[in-house]
Amino acid sequence: MPNIKFLEEHPLYTQFPFEVPEYIHQLEKVNINMHCSKCDNIRTFNMTNDYRDSEEHVHPDVGNSYATKKNKYITLDYLCAACKVFMRFFIIKIGEDLTYIQKIGQYPPLDISIPKELKKIIDEEYKDYYKKGKNSENFGHGIGAYVYYRRIIEGIINEFIEKIPYFMTNEEKEKYKEPLDRAKKEKNTTTKIEIIKDLVPPILIQGRFNPLKALHEALSIGIHVESDLSCLENAKIIRNSLEFIVEIIFRDVEKSKEYIESMDKIKKRLKEKYK
Ligand SMILES: [Zn+2]
Repeated sequence: MPNIKFLEEHPLYTQFPFEVPEYIHQLEKVNINMHCSKCDNIRTFNMTNDYRDSEEHVHPDVGNSYATKKNKYITLDYLCAACKVFMRFFIIKIGEDLTYIQKIGQYPPLDISIPKELKKIIDEEYKDYYKKGKNSENFGHGIGAYVYYRRIIEGIINEFIEKIPYFMTNEEKEKYKEPLDRAKKEKNTTTKIEIIKDLVPPILIQGRFNPLKALHEALSIGIHVESDLSCLENAKIIRNSLEFIVEIIFRDVEKSKEYIESMDKIKKRLKEKYK
């Protein structure tokens, strides 16, 4: 399959828009990067089989390569390029009108392990929700994934709010004190995030990506009216934002302390200089 992200991350049984060529030999073979159980690390995998031929589907003009329209299912074998032992397998369904592809099988299954940083800070109940959420996501069950991830956010948002001032300079702390207190008291998680989403210090913003804004948008959808697919997209945003926030906050608290202290010193010096 020419699409790397599709193979590496896309859930099962969910359509993936793709322009399928008319003949199967026109499909590219791509390398993927996934976890190898033998090497116990992320490795490059190469596709080792050819797109399968079958008598019935031989096309006169292209020899053994058959038309994708007739060939509804294809299998892909991938071998770890480092150990040359561990393999991954995929079964792909070709959409009837050649406008999409769909994973209908994958072994070993998509990962449901919890990222290291997240694992350290959430308790058992939320670890369970995370795995269930990831499992739902991997099978394309958007509503289920959305609800599980939302429960984790509801559970840890206060802890996150408590940590925000660690990333603020004295000047910022002063400005944000009142809204932060208000957010702490607010019961509704979405409203809580609404209050603080624009107060996020620059150190917590990656590029133009404000994880709290993304989280707020994703939490604001009407779960009772949205489709499974829309919930799936929003579930992914919630999970990514959660992982991103936790990664920065709990890995960088020490690092950011130094940064903030030096910022405070510089600002103080500048103030004195230009008084
Ligand atoms: Zn390997």
